[in-house]
Amino acid sequence: MSQDQDHFRDSIGTIKEDGKRAWVFPKKPSGKLYTYRKYVSYVLLTFLIASPFIKINGNQFLMFNVLERRFNIFGFPFYPQDFHLFVISMIIGVVFIALFTVAFGRIFCGWMCPQTIFMEMVFRRIEYWIDGDRGAQMRLDRQEWNAEKIRKRALKWFIFFIISFIIANVFLAYLIGSDRLIQYITDGPAQHISTMVSLLIFTAVFYFVFAWFREQVCIIACPYGRMQGVLLDNKSIVVAYDHKRGEAENGRKKWRKNEDRAALGHGDCIDCFQCVNVCPTGIDIRNGTQLECVNCTACIDECDTIMEKVNLPKGLIRYASENEITKKEKFKFTPRLKGYTAVLVILTGVLIGMMFLRNDLEANILRLPGQLYEHKEGNIISNVYTYKLLNKTTKAVENVHFELISPKGEIKLVRHENFDVEPEALAEGTLFIEINASALSGDKNNLKIGVYSNDKLIETTTARFLAPRSYK
Ligand code: SF4
Ligand code: SF4
Repeated sequence: MSQDQDHFRDSIGTIKEDGKRAWVFPKKPSGKLYTYRKYVSYVLLTFLIASPFIKINGNQFLMFNVLERRFNIFGFPFYPQDFHLFVISMIIGVVFIALFTVAFGRIFCGWMCPQTIFMEMVFRRIEYWIDGDRGAQMRLDRQEWNAEKIRKRALKWFIFFIISFIIANVFLAYLIGSDRLIQYITDGPAQHISTMVSLLIFTAVFYFVFAWFREQVCIIACPYGRMQGVLLDNKSIVVAYDHKRGEAENGRKKWRKNEDRAALGHGDCIDCFQCVNVCPTGIDIRNGTQLECVNCTACIDECDTIMEKVNLPKGLIRYASENEITKKEKFKFTPRLKGYTAVLVILTGVLIGMMFLRNDLEANILRLPGQLYEHKEGNIISNVYTYKLLNKTTKAVENVHFELISPKGEIKLVRHENFDVEPEALAEGTLFIEINASALSGDKNNLKIGVYSNDKLIETTTARFLAPRSYK
């Protein structure tokens, strides 16, 4: 593409020359892919809204309680102690998205991103229902504030507010847990003013995003969108205009009945601008792959409808790579893809292994800082420790005590009796470990300690034991 043709890259299509916002009035999409996207959106919306309210073994299916640092992923509770698992999950997520993007471009944005789903499948459809299609929306926008415009705007903004409020509630259920949210609702907002204020702030943010900011999220705010430039190459499959076919030797040209376009050297694009009119980010896909394109497929459907009408083959705009269009190359599993896949498989294996090895009770026994050892009667050396037991399950761990597995010795709890660790709670305390000096092998000894519940070994942990040097 020459520099002349590249001028569209100098500015964003949704900003006018005077710097003001060029509001996008996309035509209502229709077609095979739009219907599939609607079905996918129903499934994803149900998943998104229901997830915080589904419980598995008493654990919320998905929860991201950042404030209390408690996370549930697919019903598995994660604590700050599981941070390594969380980090691996995040890395897997990033590699997975990178792999997908290298191979299939922004397919995630068009089909799965919550922003696109809520914008195109919820808010936009309400807008079509109230304001009508593109032409009617443009007319209404230009129209003076008469009764019709006031009624339509008030109705639309009210519904947008209600939906934003519902989304904010679901968002809060992810953050603080659905049980607590329901509790707060039953108590009434007056008793939880700060939560109510947060809820209204979230509502305002969602309202701002879906009623006004809209496609700007994908164009200028989304970090994933920014990464496209480095992830995409000529082999990536994206929503693409077949410029070879569309332009041919003599370029695109308006449709004229009974004209032999092939003989005149004109491409199959009839320059009807329907692909531009339907685009929710306001771009012309015929200019080539652009950062603004969220791969929503609306232009594919629209162009296919036009091709059908003028009796030309469908697929002038389709999922294709640049190499497929220019060199007729089919999709290849490139070395880069193989590399990403290998990393993904290894990381997933590590994560699954670590998840299975993870204990329901996590024990940490640490020597009390600043304390050395005590030499007691009968050649006994004593060290003092603090212990922390985290119960990651929703059931109490009962009748807990510690035993020294190696070397031989005795563990004495300061509280002198066995104890219970409540569900999803942390039990802390102090204990002494006493070992006969003859059983020690030096001034620094490694201990293996067993944690027992109802006399059953449920976890082992290690600790350091200090003794005088003379016992080396
Ligand atoms: S919809 Fe198809 S035919 Fe019409 S302008 Fe776009 S690419 Fe050309
Ligand atoms: S160019 Fe096509 S696929 Fe990309 S955002 Fe616009 S309508 Fe959607």
